[in-house]
Amino acid sequence: MEMEKLVSLCRRRGFLFQSSEIYGGLNGFWDYGPLGVELKRNVKEAWWQDMVSGHDELTQHEGAPSTFEMVGLDCTIIMHPQVWKVSGHYDLFCDQMVDCRETKKRYRYDQVQGRWAEAKDKRVFVTSVAEEVEDDIAKRGLKCFNLRNKDADQVKWDGPIVSLDKLSMEELASAYGPDAKEVGTLTEPRDFNLMFKTIVGAMGSEKDAAYLRPETAQGIFVNFKNVLDSTRVRLPLGIAQIGKSFRNEITPRNFTFRSREFEQMEIEFFCHPNDSAKWYQYWRDRRFKWYTDHGLAGERLILRDHDPDELSHYSTGTADVEYAFPFLPEGEYGELEGIAHRGDFDLRSHMEGKLDPNSCPLEVQKGEDGKPVHRGSGKDLTYRDDLTNERYTPHVIEPSAGADRATLAFLCEAYHEDQQPDDKGKMQTRTVMRFHPRLAPIKAAILPLVKKDGMPEIARDLYRALKKKMPVEYDEKSAIGRRYRRQDEIGTPYCLTVDGQTLEDQTVTLRDRDSLEQVRVKLDDVQSEIEQRING
Ligand code: ATP
Repeated sequence: MEMEKLVSLCRRRGFLFQSSEIYGGLNGFWDYGPLGVELKRNVKEAWWQDMVSGHDELTQHEGAPSTFEMVGLDCTIIMHPQVWKVSGHYDLFCDQMVDCRETKKRYRYDQVQGRWAEAKDKRVFVTSVAEEVEDDIAKRGLKCFNLRNKDADQVKWDGPIVSLDKLSMEELASAYGPDAKEVGTLTEPRDFNLMFKTIVGAMGSEKDAAYLRPETAQGIFVNFKNVLDSTRVRLPLGIAQIGKSFRNEITPRNFTFRSREFEQMEIEFFCHPNDSAKWYQYWRDRRFKWYTDHGLAGERLILRDHDPDELSHYSTGTADVEYAFPFLPEGEYGELEGIAHRGDFDLRSHMEGKLDPNSCPLEVQKGEDGKPVHRGSGKDLTYRDDLTNERYTPHVIEPSAGADRATLAFLCEAYHEDQQPDDKGKMQTRTVMRFHPRLAPIKAAILPLVKKDGMPEIARDLYRALKKKMPVEYDEKSAIGRRYRRQDEIGTPYCLTVDGQTLEDQTVTLRDRDSLEQVRVKLDDVQSEIEQRING
């Protein structure tokens, strides 16, 4: 599938618009249109229902080491600035960036791919001469190469930085195609903090600086004690949150994949350290299955375990759920969700603070004056098991997903084209969005075959009855084939047609979007039939 087709459908049918489009848009910000808002809500609601509100705490789930509890939270976007100092974001939440002096293009270092990245049709190779001339950028000769040619996409590049000593221009051209040409020199790589800064209060001074949260997780950690004290929950316990996060991404791109404002769906799962490895395995498998259950099955979805050298210093295991988005080169995948074993890093940081901003309490030696560089809360965030009387700092498993990336993956996966006869029997290309019925923005369309003989009246009554239960549309305009086509394009799983036979036997035609099978259903049974098909 070409990405352009999906982007155009999303705009034309009202799934996604560029933010502030009439003013030329704002890079990295997107608005969800009338259908997009329903789709994304369904993604979030499916997640909340499956993870939180529908969670059965009395039954041991398949693969789970024991029963467990799940509760939710909704925390603020702006939090006490100390939260971000202690979490590490203030010092370490940076991307490396370089600018090309000549083209003024900006590149961000892609940690996962291990290369400097800009747009998808370009590969940028950063080269440096001898390592010993580190202090002089000009002498270091950082260069960018524009490899916008058809061979470039087939090139597999593994090393992030290549020494120009080892690769001459001729070698570069022979390896990467004749159009490889040097377009300019690059500035020295520099760190760029991704947090958006703002000022709280009227004074407007630096000491009133605060940050828009770059993740929802910290709101959960700082409320861990509140949740324990205000409810009767016991560990193992998952606390979940859905909400906006903000990152001043250097190169927002690939539609909504890398946005500057986006929504996350995160769980912090607190458990006994001895059981944490088993819980990590449980969440890793369960979260992968959630995506396959909603239609992302097949080769395009993978669960990738991080290599030991990719792991954060505090993590003993991390796995990413990744999807082969169509805008990525063949064989590459983009992250939908990360499931990380975070040990007791977060709770201990919020208790004790950080002695060294570049390290964590587990690894750090005592600071010179013995005082933490970033003060923790000093509050006791340990847990006492009231049955065994044991007190411990819980370990945390964190499944962290992006609502916008999941929505984008569902959009990409849904897009299909096939050949179907039109009203006159001529074969036409049909675009059909094959959303999982649970995620589809509109569940059913009610269509009177013709605008006479009492058909619109029956159809409107059916519409009114169904509308109370689910999002449905009524459409009486244009030929029936064209109305079907429109519903296919927005992914409506079922069309209900009121026709001549309805007047005789009180049945309607139920047309299935994917199989195109048509069956007759009694008017009185329509609601239960559709609910049964949606919920399985
Ligand atoms: P990436 O490496 O792609 O920037 P990340 O590893 O920094 O992602 P996390 O910090 O683990 O991402 O955030 C958890 C989830 O939040 C991601 O798996 C993704 O679904 C979502 N997410 C993160 N950054 C963005 C963004 N800029 N736009 C949209 N979604 C995002």
